[in-house]
Amino acid sequence: MSDAPLYLEAQLDRTPASLLRSAAFLHTLVDALGSPLNVILPEQIAQNADRFGSVLHRHQLAGRVFFAHKANRSSALVRRLTTTTAGIDVASLAELQHALGAGFTADRIIATGPKDPEFLWLAARSGVIVNADGAAELLMAARLVRAYELPRLRVVLRLSEFETSGARVLSRRSRFGTSVKALGDLLDILDAQQDSLEPIGVGYHLDTTGLDEKASALEGCLRAVEELRLRGFGPRAIDVGGGFGVNYLADGAQWDRYTSALTTAVMGGRAPMTWGGHGYGLRAENGTLKGALGLYPAHRPLAGAAYLDELLSRPALGLGRPLGTLLLESLCDLYAEPGRALVDQCGITLGRVLEVRDSETGERLVRLAMNTGDVGLEDHGVLIDPVLVRRGSAPAENESPVAVHLMGNLCLESDLITRRTVFLPALPQPGDLLAFPNTAGYCMDFTATGAQQQPVARKVAVSEAGDSWRWCLDEQYWPLTATVGRTESDSGGRTA
Ligand SMILES: *Cc1c(COP(=O)(O)O)cnc(C)c1O
Repeated sequence: MSDAPLYLEAQLDRTPASLLRSAAFLHTLVDALGSPLNVILPEQIAQNADRFGSVLHRHQLAGRVFFAHKANRSSALVRRLTTTTAGIDVASLAELQHALGAGFTADRIIATGPKDPEFLWLAARSGVIVNADGAAELLMAARLVRAYELPRLRVVLRLSEFETSGARVLSRRSRFGTSVKALGDLLDILDAQQDSLEPIGVGYHLDTTGLDEKASALEGCLRAVEELRLRGFGPRAIDVGGGFGVNYLADGAQWDRYTSALTTAVMGGRAPMTWGGHGYGLRAENGTLKGALGLYPAHRPLAGAAYLDELLSRPALGLGRPLGTLLLESLCDLYAEPGRALVDQCGITLGRVLEVRDSETGERLVRLAMNTGDVGLEDHGVLIDPVLVRRGSAPAENESPVAVHLMGNLCLESDLITRRTVFLPALPQPGDLLAFPNTAGYCMDFTATGAQQQPVARKVAVSEAGDSWRWCLDEQYWPLTATVGRTESDSGGRTA
């Protein structure tokens, strides 16, 4: 690989950047707790929640931002969030139990996703808001409420397949939600179940980055709210779901260079940039480029809270004025369910380098004490460079850029941490750490398995304490400040 290095450097906030420079601390953690290791920064989720809150404020909207729990299992993140004004979106019985156990009250919990009877029962029993997928779920909820004499259950109707006023269908088909065309049927059910169910609003969740599609869905919800009112219900919230996204990369030019070089490589115009010539969805057929790049758009100038701001500032296609204004005039609260965006900058994943060697064909292989499930970058198509965290000082000959392939610890040909060739500013050596930045959203524990009985990463929560770091195991973390919860001298968390 003689070409100039093609870096994809991470976008890092001040605190995670400072953490990555704290080599001795990170090595101490991995020495004690093993590799792989997930490091959580709970303060960051509070900052992200504030940013979303400011957007609501700027548009004079009331409402709530619910963290989509499925993005990360960390207790520290969930517990830290209880001290903000945010709520939580739970998608399973265990996530609901976790949220309740962390201190979330029912008014700050919304239950989404496919629901089994136990999940729905606990949701109804504890009085959380249920984001209902369709008729069957409404009927099951009503039966549970009646059978167990539970309080009237607040429900939000998840809708899909919205059309614009021009009748062009802009939102794709989804496995979830009820087509707006069938809204009347849901309202018939709600009419019949008035004693058990209280429809408080409508919503959508679209797994897309497209603003047009979301704007059209939001407009569709504004119309649906009117329909509910005409039928005598009192809706008061619109739920715009999640999917606000994260900007993973510091430099858009690096992303453009990287993706065009990948395309060139797929076409045979330069040496392969991946293990086995994998094309990330692209392929060459008789000299023409086919397929589509199946990667997360890692450089996203408009992401997170700013994306929500942009959505609310958009003029509605059919109605002319900004969607935020229309929401305000409809007297609806805004609900949002960001997952990935709320855990932006909230964690890193560490893996220890076990071996560095050259393959017969001249590739540099770096084997790590972790596997592909431990850092799901490849699964989610997120390409970011790991950061080399040296154990000691490096031999001088190792200090020039290298192209490497990152191998996992499973006895499996396909166990590559990433299929792409990774460029590093220097060659790692055994004992060094590679730190994968910004993994808290889906890339930390979503795909971790314990295959081959390799250890599943532990999690630690860390926070800055002056010039050093305070840390504890994730499950030991509670959001008590040292001054309120206990005295400084027995503050529990260790510092390094
Ligand atoms: C996954 C999910 C979210 C979160 O999506 P992100 O892309 O992580 O923001 C929100 N709502 C529902 C219903 C989901 O399934």
